[in-house]
Amino acid sequence: MAPVSTLDATHDPKLRSWVDSANLPGCDFPIQNLPLAVFRRKGSGENFRCGAAIGDSVLDLGALDMLSPFGGLGTQALAACAEPSLNRLMALGREAWVALRRGLSQCLREGAPRAMELAAALVPQREVEFTLPARIGNYTDFYASIHHATAVGRLFRPDQPLLPNYKWMPIAYHGRASSIGVSGQEFRRPHGQVMPRGAERPQVAPSARLDFELEVGILIGTGNGLGSPIPIAQAEEHVFGLCLLNDWSARDVQAWEYQPLGPFLAKSFASTISPWVVTLEALAPYRLPWTRPAEDPQPLPYLDCEPLRTRGALDLQLEVALETAAMRAAGAAPQPLARTNFRHSYWAIAQMVAHHTVNGCNLEPGDLFGSGTQSGPTPEQAGSLLELTEGGKRPLRLTGGETRTFLEDGDRVILRGWCERPGCARIGFGEASGTVLAE
Ligand code: MN
Repeated sequence: MAPVSTLDATHDPKLRSWVDSANLPGCDFPIQNLPLAVFRRKGSGENFRCGAAIGDSVLDLGALDMLSPFGGLGTQALAACAEPSLNRLMALGREAWVALRRGLSQCLREGAPRAMELAAALVPQREVEFTLPARIGNYTDFYASIHHATAVGRLFRPDQPLLPNYKWMPIAYHGRASSIGVSGQEFRRPHGQVMPRGAERPQVAPSARLDFELEVGILIGTGNGLGSPIPIAQAEEHVFGLCLLNDWSARDVQAWEYQPLGPFLAKSFASTISPWVVTLEALAPYRLPWTRPAEDPQPLPYLDCEPLRTRGALDLQLEVALETAAMRAAGAAPQPLARTNFRHSYWAIAQMVAHHTVNGCNLEPGDLFGSGTQSGPTPEQAGSLLELTEGGKRPLRLTGGETRTFLEDGDRVILRGWCERPGCARIGFGEASGTVLAE
């Protein structure tokens, strides 16, 4: 089995598609990307099925399956795509995922013999609606950015910002899967128990410190048996792909409830992911060595291996933007609030997988990990309002004259992500957007 970072003909930056929009500069979905989602025609009542993004269209993999364009393992992989979730494909394993990618790349490249026939399986993206890409059985949220952990720790615990375990293990809590929604999600401002400053008793109130968290979502492909840890050198074999994740957070609820067992109701009211899952194969050209500062503890052996050191990190650019109700009314574009990169993460994906299973915990196809809020080393690279406004003390000034400390009703938050590197195609994640409604 080839390592996940192997490049092949599907990554060739010179490849072009017969779908013209896929060849436009800046397009998130060139033929080198081929992310997967679950969709149907908007308002149609059709069954949801899997699709692959190409340019401004979705290739309907249910319809493609009827044309039997592939042989061998690709056929089996494509048959799994007629389902209303990616779980069956995820369970088939990496060789099937690679066969599907190669088959799609051949079908969609310029000069493909059956292009005319395949064109009938394209649906414009503006005419589709998405559902969650997978049935997510379990959601675990990590805390892998040391810059975020330190900045938040300073606000919640000025005396001890970074707890002693942080540099030894990828910290996480078990999140709530039932309230995860796909991009376009709308939710009411949550109520919760809060302890106002100086008060003697807590009260139940709508959250006044509602925040976003800019995260990378990691979707598990093949699982492991209960009692069988995944060794770090094999960890990425179990990862299907990545998406964008907004882990909405009620900071006032969180501040009062989080000790001693961690976040609970401050997080479980909504989480929003992007519809498109970018496979680990598509991300192979953008891998980077994973490093740890020499003055920090080096990872314990179960969290370290040679492939991690040579290519365990990922050069994935991330951006969060805000569209207020006033901006929307004025037809103004969403305003970017911060930009950072997943390469700054203190812990890598493979380490999250190895640590999660070291006790024998079984992962299952479709399980979701959150990377934790990704903040870079500088203050303007912060992935949450908590950090960008220094705990609400320094309001952000928006272009239309508005200000924000935390989110207001009608605010829409948009996450974006993309990879680019000289000599490689630029590929994007689309977006994950969600809107806060009045309580
Ligand atoms: Mn989070």
